[in-house]
This record gives sequence, structure tokens and C-alpha cells, in this order.
Amino acid sequence: MEEALQTIKGVGPGRERQLHKLGITSVSALLTYFPREYEDRSKVVPIAQLEAGQMLSVVGQVVHVAEKRPRPRLWILEVQVSDGLGRLKLVFFNQRHKKAQFRMGQRVFAYGKVERGYGMWQMNSPQVDFLAKEEVIHPSIVPVYPLVEGVSQFVVRQSVANWLTAHAELPSIIPDGVSRKSSLSRYEAVKEMHFPTSSKRQEEARQQLAYEELFIMQTGLLLLRAQEQGGQAPQMEADGCLVKAFLQSIPFQLTGDQEKAYQEIALDMQAKRPMQRLLQGDVGSGKTIVAFLSLLKAVENGYQGALMVPTEILAKQHRESFEDLCGGLGLKVVLLVGSTKKKEKEAIYQGLAEGTIDIVIGTHALLQDMVDFKRLGLVVIDEQHRFGVEQRASLQRKGISPHVLLMTATPIPRTVTLSVYGDLEISLIKEMPPGRKPVKMYAVDSSYEERLLTFFAKEMAQHHQVYVVCPLVEESETLDLAAAEELYEKLKVRYKNQYEVGLVHGRMKTQEKEAVMTAFHEGRIQLLVSTTVIEVGVNVPNATIMCVVGAERFGLSQLHQLRGRVGRGQAQAYCILVSDSKGSEARQRLHIMETTQDGFKLAEEDLLIRGTGQLFGTMQHGLADLRVADIIKDLPLMVEARADAKRYIKRVGLAEAKVAMEGELRNRFGASFVRVLYA
Ligand code: ADP
Ligand code: MG
Repeated sequence: MEEALQTIKGVGPGRERQLHKLGITSVSALLTYFPREYEDRSKVVPIAQLEAGQMLSVVGQVVHVAEKRPRPRLWILEVQVSDGLGRLKLVFFNQRHKKAQFRMGQRVFAYGKVERGYGMWQMNSPQVDFLAKEEVIHPSIVPVYPLVEGVSQFVVRQSVANWLTAHAELPSIIPDGVSRKSSLSRYEAVKEMHFPTSSKRQEEARQQLAYEELFIMQTGLLLLRAQEQGGQAPQMEADGCLVKAFLQSIPFQLTGDQEKAYQEIALDMQAKRPMQRLLQGDVGSGKTIVAFLSLLKAVENGYQGALMVPTEILAKQHRESFEDLCGGLGLKVVLLVGSTKKKEKEAIYQGLAEGTIDIVIGTHALLQDMVDFKRLGLVVIDEQHRFGVEQRASLQRKGISPHVLLMTATPIPRTVTLSVYGDLEISLIKEMPPGRKPVKMYAVDSSYEERLLTFFAKEMAQHHQVYVVCPLVEESETLDLAAAEELYEKLKVRYKNQYEVGLVHGRMKTQEKEAVMTAFHEGRIQLLVSTTVIEVGVNVPNATIMCVVGAERFGLSQLHQLRGRVGRGQAQAYCILVSDSKGSEARQRLHIMETTQDGFKLAEEDLLIRGTGQLFGTMQHGLADLRVADIIKDLPLMVEARADAKRYIKRVGLAEAKVAMEGELRNRFGASFVRVLYA
């Protein structure tokens, strides 16, 4: 049974509510809610004794708060704290939301690099902790938890500490017989993770708990895989008339890689086990053709095919290119999206159930319970990282055990696919269709603004189109949105009566977004300002400029994806990265972008520079939410955990493993994963 939070000393209904906000609903969930980082409070120093250049901690009361705005897009917040003997200024940049948090008299703990300001010590962008009245600061290493608004560090810390004080052991959650040598008990390891006594012991604890986490995840993945592959697949014949007719009718030759990828898929579809294959290919490498070929193969074998994409506009585009390329083959192909009229939807449901429709192309609308297929043979999911595990699985469940082809343009290194998907089969398209001109790259700073605006106008005069992308960072979404809107207004005035300027951002409703994207696609808008990453996969061959403002805030893979939006037509295309950042990391990244066109290389560089966080930021599948383990650093542990999980399942059987791991899978990987397995 799960131990309830209120059994912990000091946790009443109020604190329980706060913990719920973090998704913590039981003691075991609390204990595995590990810190994001640690503060070294062993170095709390009186303000009068601060020294420049050192990382130090200070405790004091807020005595003065001021906001300054020296430049249009720069907000500076200055907070003075006093410890009775001296004053220190905490300085924050472009974090307007922070202002409300600093009330006069509030006790704060600040950790950061001490610098000599004007007449007063100063810390720029320090880590700040708001202290409760009763909270005493002990010199120690203190955990810092990921939080949401309305929850304090103190509540999490004290709840964990109180539980640990009242107990002396924790049952192992790794099943008996799967044992890894370790010097710490589970209780010790958990305690060490929350309240480290030394960095060496903390690393030991981390590894042990990372193994535990990976073991649970890998067991879950293996169970999922067994479930997906449990059924009998629709076994298909060697290539027949439709595939052959299609290959003869297209106006070009498949590239070697396209050919090879399709052969691998065809072989899988001719087997008895359902295919589980990931097709990875850079933007513009021609994955769509491979998907069409696979769908045709299903149809010529008497099955139906479904192609699911993340947005309506993409669905429409695929529908159009299918019509262009396969229009002559006499198939019944329909489009099913959110905005499809009710009557039409009903006709589609009926056609799919009766088997009169061969292929359906659509969005999430395909996942509705109403959608039932007569003989679903193949499911293709484009831009698969945009869909969660649960969504993928629910479409798969619609057939007996249809073959599944996932497609992605986000290059995912092998180590990552292994951890996220288990041993999924992979096909790669590395080669680009012939005749592509490389996109010209320019990295500039904002002093080039005037020249850029003239250049945009020149391209638009030649009936080309322009993307301008501004980053949207979660920390201050409103601020970034304001900056994008400002830019949009400025460009609108600038090109008034000449060119149409549009704006899309993440706060818009899906329908509004799609309307703007469609207008851009159809050429009714010439210049598109966007705060979000432009809808993946959108194909506007007429666009020749991709201008990214604040380029230093994007990952390499993201920049590469953005660059891939242009250079799809005949005309020379340009990617312009605008950045005022002088930091060496930012410079280094922009340089790599200038010199590399290979998406896989860029993804690997990204991993090296920024770690996995960034990569997963763009892959919304919820499965990779590892709290302790680091997929790159802990790869050997993962391989070990996977082998152990395999052995374990083999020993006790699928049914027992499923029951035994349910609680932990729920705790660690959330309901979405569990709902698929325990539906
Ligand atoms: P992506 O992999 O990004 O989905 P697409 O499938 O949209 O790429 O293909 C990009 C463009 O390249 C399309 O216009 C398509 O018609 C074209 N294309 C695909 N394969 C070839 C080929 N073998 N030769 C020439 N053009 C091709
Ligand atoms: Mg595509």
C-alpha cells in the first residue's frame, strides 16, 4: 500500500496540497522527487566579509527593490538585502516576474558569484531561496528541488527530512534476485541524494538510484514492446502492382538511401511479427515518398493504411502530395482532421469500418474512439516525437497488430533511441535528393538590422517569402511574446502597403495558428514572425529566408530544423542567425552551424554541449523523464539495467513482472505510460 503524505510529521492538508502541485501524491513519490541541484551553505558569509570573485552564500532581509529599464528590451531588477551589518545588491535581468517575489522584510538566502558593484557588493543572477520565518540556516549542503508556483523549497525539504528522521530503512524496489553490488542500503542512498554528506558518497548514491530508475524504465519498455508485438501481424506479399506502378510514375529516381529504407520496411511487412521501425531522415531527405510506398504496399495486400501527423496543415500537405503522386492509381484516400465537418466525418468513419476507404491521412482526430478500421495493416506516424507513447499506442490498438512505421527528422543518437524505445529497428536516410543547393549561412549581430530589412524586401520583391523566428523561453514567456509582438508591429509598419506580415505564437489557439500558417503557405502572407518553432515539417518551397533572432538561445538541432524550412525550392536560400551574445559557448555553436549541414553531427554536438535536456525538450513523449540517470553519462548502467530487466522478465514471466512493477512505473513515469500497459 502507498503510504499517505499526511503520515509525515508536519504535513497537514495545506502542505499536502502544495506537494500535490508537484505531482507528489505518496511518500514513495516524495522520496524519489530528487533535487535538481544543491546549494553549498557551508559558506554562508556575513556581508561585511564578502570577497570578490568567489561563489558564496548570504542570508539577509530585503530592504529595497527597484526596477530599471535602460534599453527597450532590457529590464533590470535590483534587490538590496541587509544582514544588519552590510548590504548586498542582487541583480536580475529580464526576469520581470521575479519582482513580486521580493517583499520588503522577506528573508532570503542568496548564492552566487560576488562582484564589486558601485559602492556595494553585488551578485548577478544569483540563486535565491525564500526563507520561512521559522527556518534556521544550518551550514550544510542543501537540496534545491524543481518547483512550481506556490510551493516552497522549505516544504519539500522539511517533509523529506521529517520522514527520513522518523524511519531507518526503506524496502528495495528492485525485485529479489536482481541484485547489483552496492555499498549503500536503499535508505542510505535516498538520504544521501536529498542531503549529501560528501560528493563522493552522493555520486555513489546517485549511481545506485540511477540503476534503479533505469531498471524500472527498461522493464516498462520491454513490457510495452512485448504487448505491441504480441499479436499476429498482417503478413504481406512481395511488392505488387501498386508499388511498381508508383515507382514508374514518379518524376524522379529514389535515392540510394530511400531505396534501402523502403526495402527494410518491405521485409518487415512481409514478416509475421508486427513491424516497429523508426525512419530517421533529415528535413527534406524525402521520407514522405517512403511512407507512401509503404502505404501502397499495405493497400495492394488488401489492407488499409493510416498516416498520422501532428498538425492539420501538415495533414493537408500530405494529402495534396499524395494526390499529385498517386492520383492516377485509383485509390480512395481521405483527410480526417479536427475541422472536418461532422457529416463528412461520419461518412469517413463508416468508410473505414466497412473497408471502402484505403488510406486515411489525419491528425489526432484519428485517435477518436469512433474511428474503427476494417483491416488496418499499417500505421505511419510522421514527426513522431510530437506524439506521446499513449497516443501512438492507441492508434496501434485499432488494428489487430498493425505494422508501425515512425518517422522523425529530429536526429536521435543511438544511445537515446535505445533508452527511449528499447531496441526499435532503425532505418536511416542520410543522402539528400540530388540538386539541392546548400543554404547560405550568415551569423550577424543586431547592428545589421537595417541591412537585413532591406534584404528581406529585396527577396520579397522577387516573390519569395521570409521567416523571422524569435525564441520563446519559458521563464519569461510574456516578456518574449512582447518582444516578438514589437518586432511584428515594426515590420508591419516597415512593409506597409507592400507586403503582408503575419504573426504566430504559442499562446494562440490551434485554429488561429493554422489559419496564419495556411495564409503563409498559400502566399497571402510574405513575411511570417513566429515565437514558437515553426510547425515541424511545413513545406513552403517559396520561402528563401530563415532569420533567427536571439539564435544563441536555440539548440543546434533546433537551428538545423529551422534552417531546413528553407532551401526547398529552386532559388538560393539563406539562413541568418542574429545574436548579440558574446559568450564563447554561443559563438562556438553558431560557428558549428555555419560549417555543418549534417543534422546527425549537429545532434551529437548538441548532446556534448548541452546534455540531453535540450533534446528531450523537443521530444514530448514523457518516457524519458529520467530524474536521476543521465542517458549519456550512465549508458553502461543502462545496458546493465536492460540486460537485468530482460533476465528478470524471462524468469518470472510477463504477467508477474507487469503486476510487480506497476506501482513504480506509475510513480516514476506517470499515468500515460501506465495507461497503455495497464489499460
Ligand atoms: P522530409 O523527409 O522532410 O519529409 P519530403 O518527403 O517532404 O522530406 O521531401 C522533400 C522534397 O523532396 C519533396 O518535394 C519531394 O518531392 C522531394 N523528393 C523526395 N525524394 C526525391 C528524390 N529521390 N529525387 C528528387 N526529389 C525528391
Ligand atoms: Mg516530412
